[in-house]
Formats: sequence, C-alpha cells, structure tokens
Amino acid sequence: MNSIDQVRPGPDTFDDADLERIVNGWLGDFERALSTGDPQRVASLIEEDGNWRDLLAFTWHLTPRVGAPEIAEVLAARQAAVGAHGIRVSPNRTPPKRVNRLGRECIEAIFEFETKVGRGDGVLRLVADSTGQYKAWVISTSLQELRGFEETIGRNRPSGAAYSRNFGGDNWEDARRKAVLYEDKDPTVLVVGGAQAGLAIAARLNQIGVDTLVVEKWPRIGDSWRERYHSLALHNSIHVNNLPYMPFPPTWPNYIPKDMLGLWFEFYAQVMEINHWTNTEFTKGDWDADAKCWTAMLKTADGSERTLRPRHIVFANGVSSYPLRPDIPGLDTFKGDVVHSEGFDSGAPYAGKKAIIIGTGSSGNDIALDLHSFKCHTTLVQRGSSTVVSIEPSAKLNYALYDENPSVEDCDLLASAVTPPLLIKGYQAAVKRMMELDKEMIDGLEGIGFKFDVGEDRTGHQMKYRRRGGGYNLDAGSSELMIKGEIDLLQNDNIERFCAEGALLKDGSIVPADVIVLATGYYPQGELVRRALGDEMADRIGQIWGQDEEGELANMYKRTPQDGVWFIAGSLTQARIYSKYMALQIKAIEEGLVDVNPLD
Ligand SMILES: Cc1cc2nc3c(=O)[nH]c(=O)nc-3n(C[C@H](O)[C@H](O)[C@H](O)COP(=O)(O)OP(=O)(O)OC[C@H]3O[C@@H](n4cnc5c(N)ncnc54)[C@H](O)[C@@H]3O)c2cc1C
Repeated sequence: MNSIDQVRPGPDTFDDADLERIVNGWLGDFERALSTGDPQRVASLIEEDGNWRDLLAFTWHLTPRVGAPEIAEVLAARQAAVGAHGIRVSPNRTPPKRVNRLGRECIEAIFEFETKVGRGDGVLRLVADSTGQYKAWVISTSLQELRGFEETIGRNRPSGAAYSRNFGGDNWEDARRKAVLYEDKDPTVLVVGGAQAGLAIAARLNQIGVDTLVVEKWPRIGDSWRERYHSLALHNSIHVNNLPYMPFPPTWPNYIPKDMLGLWFEFYAQVMEINHWTNTEFTKGDWDADAKCWTAMLKTADGSERTLRPRHIVFANGVSSYPLRPDIPGLDTFKGDVVHSEGFDSGAPYAGKKAIIIGTGSSGNDIALDLHSFKCHTTLVQRGSSTVVSIEPSAKLNYALYDENPSVEDCDLLASAVTPPLLIKGYQAAVKRMMELDKEMIDGLEGIGFKFDVGEDRTGHQMKYRRRGGGYNLDAGSSELMIKGEIDLLQNDNIERFCAEGALLKDGSIVPADVIVLATGYYPQGELVRRALGDEMADRIGQIWGQDEEGELANMYKRTPQDGVWFIAGSLTQARIYSKYMALQIKAIEEGLVDVNPLD
C-alpha cells in the first residue's frame, strides 16, 4: 500500500486539499523509490504502459520512454548522479486538478524538484488502478534552471547601477554599441538566422550569461516576415505566439499581420539586448576538433568576409530554407512571369489578369486568395493530396490547452510533457473532431475533385508538419472560393506540360496565364548544413527535423552527433518552449556540468 491510499473520500468528492495530498503522497513515494535505486520499486508507481518524457533533468537530452520497466530502468540508473530530491507539488503553479485528457479521467499536477545541478519542474497525471492505488500515467521531468546560473530576471534582474553611477565611463548605449562589434573577442555561440527561433535562443542565452551573436541575411530583423506576401497574417492566435519573456501588447489583434510581427521582432532584438548583425550571411564553417571551436565565415553587408571562432553554431535558418523549384515540364517555354512563393509580394500587378499557382499548401492557397482579391482569374494546381483545416474553429483545437489556463509557462510545461505516442493519439482525436467541424468544407472540396487526406495515420496537419514541414492548408477562405468556382482547381494529372501561354492540358485545351506562382515548398533546414559545413559533416549529423527512431524531432533542440552544432526551428510556440532547454544544455556544457553524453 502506498501513502496515498490513506486518503479515503471517493474521487467525485475530492476537494483541492485532497488532490494535493494524493499528489504529494505519490511524489513522496516516488522520491523514496528513486532513492533506493531499485527499478522495480520505481516501476510499481507507474502504469504498465505509462509515459515519461525527460527534458534534460535526468538524461541531459529530450528522452521519451513508454512502459513502466523502461521508464524505471533509466530513472533508477540515473538517480545517483542526478540526486533528485524535494519532489513536491509546486506551490506557485496551477494546483492539482481533475481533468480529462485523451478520454481518461486523471489528476493532473505540476510538481517541482531539486537536483545536484539545478531546479526542475514536472507534470504528473495520476490514474487509479482497479485496487484504488494511484499510478502515473504520464510524468515529465524538466530542468528549469542551473544553480548559480539562474536567469537574470524578476528579483534577479540586473541593478543597472553600473551605468548610472559609472561617471565618465560607458553608459548603456556605449556598452551595447561595443558589445555588438566583436572586435577583440568571439561570441561563444553564433546563431544563424534572426527570425523567431534565432531571437528566442539568443534571448535565453543572454539571460544565463552566454555571449551570443545572431547573424541574419536580410537587411533588417523581421524581414523574414515582412518579405512574405502582402496579405499574410499568422495562422494561430496571439496567446500561443509569445516570444520568451515578452508577451505581445494586449491591444494587438488575434491574428498578427506579418509586418506587425516583423516590427515586433526588430523591437525584441533591441530591447532584449540581442547582439546581431544584419545583411550578414553565414557561408562556411570548419570544426577545429582540438580547440573545440568553429572557424565560421561570414559575408557581411559591404561584401567583405569576417571570420569568427564560436564554440557553438545554432542553426536557426528555418525549416524552409532555400526555395524548391521542381523540374516542371515546359515551364521554361512560358512567356509570362514565373515566381516562387518566397518572392511573391502582392496580387496587385496581376489585377484583372490570369494566374496559375502550383501547389495547394498554405502558401499556395493564401496567394490564391490574394490574387483573387485583385480580380485576377486564379487556378490552383494540385499535385499530391493535401490536408485542409479551417483556421477557425478547427486549427485552434490543437492549442485548446492554452485556453484552459491563464499561465503560458504552465501550458508550455504541460505541452512539453507529451511523449510521441500520446502526441499521435492527441492529434488523432483532434483530427476526428476537426473533420466533424469542417465536414461541409471537406465534402465541398471532394465534390470538386480535390484530393483530400488527413495523413498516413490520421494525425492531420500537425504530424505532417513534424514529419515533412508541409502538405497542408490552414484554410483562410480559399476552399470556399474553390467550391463556389471563383478560384479554379486543376489536377496536375490533367496537364500535358506548360507552354508559352500557360498550361497545355491532355485534352489539347490551354489554361492561359500571365503569371505562374511556384508554391512548391522549400529545401529542408539541412541544406545549409550541407552547403556550409560539407557533405561529411552533414552525413555525420544525419537527419534534421522529421521524426527520429524515438518519435522525437530528429536532432532538434538537443545535442547532435557533432559537438557544437544545434538546430532550432518551428512555430513560435516551439521556439519559445525549446529555446529554454537548448540554452540550458549549452550553458551546462560550457560550465562542465554535463556528466553523460546522451548520444554515447
Ligand atoms: C503563411 C504562413 C503562416 C504561418 N503562420 C504561423 C503561425 O500562425 N504561427 C506560427 O508559429 N508559425 C506560423 N508559420 C510558420 C512559421 O512562420 C515558420 O515556421 C517560421 O518562419 C519559422 O521560424 P524560424 O525562425 O525557424 O525560421 P525562418 O522564419 O525561416 O527564419 C530563418 C532566418 O534565417 C535566415 N538565414 C537563413 N540562412 C542564413 C544564413 N546562411 N546566414 C544568415 N541568415 C540566414 C533567413 O534569412 C531567415 O530570416 C506560418 C508560415 C507561413 C508561411
């Protein structure tokens, strides 16, 4: 019997104090079991097919495990080195509550603990077995801070006295101007790419004292969004999209327009004191295995080259890097404009004209909407099948957790507790509901011959994004226009080839066009690695993004097979959540705190 069996009231009558007592009882048993180092004792507290995700605290890696024996084996083996203790319900977080997750009634709690090197938080979901004993269905353990290297925030914020009392010395502006020059020093970390992922990791590293420089190809931070097409707004709502430390103003719109977000990025880089060079491209890197640092070549604004020797390179160059232009028969004979979606600005120059868009992902569909709004006769060409999800209400379902809870920090912790099998189950449940909500749209699309799918295992657009970075449309209204016939749909199978006037169909007719837009996607993030670090290094690192053998995103946010190479990308939510863990890993490596190489 464990100590929580002593709580007598039935589940329906539990009040908040009962829930806290149950959870603290389980956590106490868990700590005692850990301290024995006996895997069987640890396993006895976990459901047979329970789930554990460790974010650094025990394994210095993002480690999912499913099954009580597998989970207990790692926890028990690592406890002596980790020294987890003081495990208890977090007094400053959302208190334990009864929830239904994936159709299961459970008690959900956020707990905290200490380790030899720092402080951690975790998520626990308890379910009662047939004997009434509570066991962990889900548990996560996340390192939150390193002792002695806490973030300089809140009570820990810098005093600022150094600037105001340093008469005759550097004030803040002087110090910032000097810091960014890197005249007589190298940054510890070079971040390639100054969009959301690059800014998030740089902001995090700054707060724990890791000298970081961001380089960005575009002339201004934020151009990565400004230079996207004219009518673009974010596809998910504002409350999930904060960058670390700074929420958006409460006056801002729910779906942020791209130029507003670009402006925010530029402002963020300044106020978060992020050292950055714009108009600067990272072109080449060589690893010095003896010195354990990189020789990084940068092409700067005036065309000159600059060499830096950082110890780490963080690739934040985007899941979508270089535009992908597939070989399309006859396209070279087309006499109108051919533009990749990356370079498409606005439909205005094509007002009253004709356009063909190749590709039915979000970019293709949004560009179709834009062209249509300028009364351009628009045809979308579909190649493979696509997932289509309405932005509202359906796409919001994946972020429903964030509507439950006032604290983004708590939601981020809950979101990151999920193991890959549970993620898949969650997406499958969401897809089922989305298909009910979007039934009319899906039926309409299929009625006009649109090839619709919800992914190989019915996990919809979210797993498509994780597996291949595309293959879906978050629908902003183009589907309805296609169904009404205001935007035409053409199946690629019906096209013989492209010709001077447009698309020559197999029946001999021509779909005329003044412009062809290639909404055909991008090379993956690893393309820059291959181009800049060479084939040998790219092969050593292996797959980037997509699922690895454990179902996690391959080589993302965690140590890779090459020392000093890191990858971060994804949505604003992913950038916010995982920049924290990436920064902690880099700091721990720099301070010699990591006692195990998770890849050995
Ligand atoms: C239509 C549309 C709507 C979207 N809506 C949302 C949404 O609502 N919410 C959300 O979270 N996401 C949304 N996304 C997805 C999101 O924008 C992307 O995932 C995001 O751009 C990824 O950010 P990132 O920082 O990883 O990469 P990117 O934004 O691709 O930035 C990479 C940066 O690296 C720079 N770079 C690349 N190579 C080099 C080099 N060699 N040297 C220097 N700099 C380099 C690039 O110039 C670029 O600025 C949307 C995307 C699209 C297209």
